[in-house]
Amino acid sequence: MLKQTVTLIKGDGIGPEIAEAVKRIFEAANAPVAWEEADAGLYCIEKYGNGLPKETLESITRNGIALKSPTTTPIGGGHKSINVTIRKTLELFANVRPCKTFPGIKTRYDNVDLIIVRENVEDTYGGIEHQQTPEVAQCLRLITSIGSRAAARYAFEMAGIEGRKKITCVHKANIQKMTDGLFLRSFNDVAANYPTIDNNDILIDNLCMQLVIKPEQFDVLVLPNLFGDIVSDLCAGLIGGLGVAPGGNIGSDAAVFEAVHGSAPDIAGKNLANPTALLLSSIQMLRYMGATAYADLIENALTMTLEAGVKTRDIGGSSSTEEYTNAICENIGKLPSVLSDAVQTNSRVRIAREQLRVEQSPWNIRGVDIFVKTTDISLLPRTLGKLTLSMVSNRGTKIYPGEIPDIVIVDCQRCRYTSNETLTNDDILEFLNAFPTDLPWMHIEKLHEENGVALYSKAQGE
Ligand code: ATP
Repeated sequence: MLKQTVTLIKGDGIGPEIAEAVKRIFEAANAPVAWEEADAGLYCIEKYGNGLPKETLESITRNGIALKSPTTTPIGGGHKSINVTIRKTLELFANVRPCKTFPGIKTRYDNVDLIIVRENVEDTYGGIEHQQTPEVAQCLRLITSIGSRAAARYAFEMAGIEGRKKITCVHKANIQKMTDGLFLRSFNDVAANYPTIDNNDILIDNLCMQLVIKPEQFDVLVLPNLFGDIVSDLCAGLIGGLGVAPGGNIGSDAAVFEAVHGSAPDIAGKNLANPTALLLSSIQMLRYMGATAYADLIENALTMTLEAGVKTRDIGGSSSTEEYTNAICENIGKLPSVLSDAVQTNSRVRIAREQLRVEQSPWNIRGVDIFVKTTDISLLPRTLGKLTLSMVSNRGTKIYPGEIPDIVIVDCQRCRYTSNETLTNDDILEFLNAFPTDLPWMHIEKLHEENGVALYSKAQGE
């Protein structure tokens, strides 16, 4: 088999140690990969001015495939997540995380075999955040029918190829009726095209409980981005921890394979890191490339090593990263007593974006929600131009009309002004121009209606 050039990002923290381990194992297996190393990580900030140089993105685009070791994401400030930037810039719409009990790794469950398909570019990961007032920070959670359909379609196509029987959509559409509602609706629209694959849906909170009680009841899970992130770590825990949980970010034109875990700075440079998750991600990558025989060869050597009790500390052993890597290299070509197929999951599925678009009926403007900085709602004009104040909510709880509930009123009110007639943009501009200048407003949302159905949420208590 001809060698394929693959971008290798060694990252930071434990990244370089585990990337080196994978490189050595690939060499021992004579795997058909020529690495093209590219920079990303904390150390790049000084060298390039940001954590992800454009040369690295160009390398991934050119090669179409990358293996990425973890890079550190600062908490509460600092640069944007490098992982998220790669996923979003290259539109890697599905994050596919196989989660299967591995022979030789002792866990509470011995029969987990599920695949997480996490929508990978939307949700709160847009990172669209604003400090509305000193008291109030806001994050925009964008869910689109295109993104949701892409993830769902990937899951169904993959399930068809891999012989998976049932796909479960995970959501919180009882509370987030618009966003999760759209995610679920999109899933159901896609599911209708795949009558031979069973599907159902479940609330995220119930899923978490069911997963820790009876994980074997799930086959393929499709989740919005943030839920997918959290549930991935939970599922990693079911199969032995973050050290053994692989993943692949799949787009139409590129794929980037990476472990579920982060850069683990607490153990970096100590020769303690478990390279298994990155190795399993690289096996997933080989299958994606069609190099199945090499994927099997390396996976058998890994299984053999674990069966022999050679393990890193995080999964109950005492081997260093290096000793563990040496053992896997020595086991290349040997067959374990139980064959593993932990990562039979990276079908190349191309999603034609045009097929994802939805028809839209005409929308009418019925009013605006204007977000105003005040704690005194008596100052709000009751009528302005064609619009009348019909509701005020504080953090989503109605405080007008009617009695103000016993809550802490923060200084950002969602003030809903509506009209019985259909409005124009000019009506809204007139309204904004007339709005009292001593009541600062942060942003507005137009209120739309489609075929008589309101396209905006009610407040609690309304
Ligand atoms: P991120 O948000 O960047 O994904 P995280 O908060 O999930 O990061 P990690 O860096 O993944 O955090 O580490 C979480 C814990 O798991 C740490 O205690 C770390 O030492 C451990 N851990 C993660 N990966 C490995 C690994 N490959 N080998 C051993 N321990 C690991």
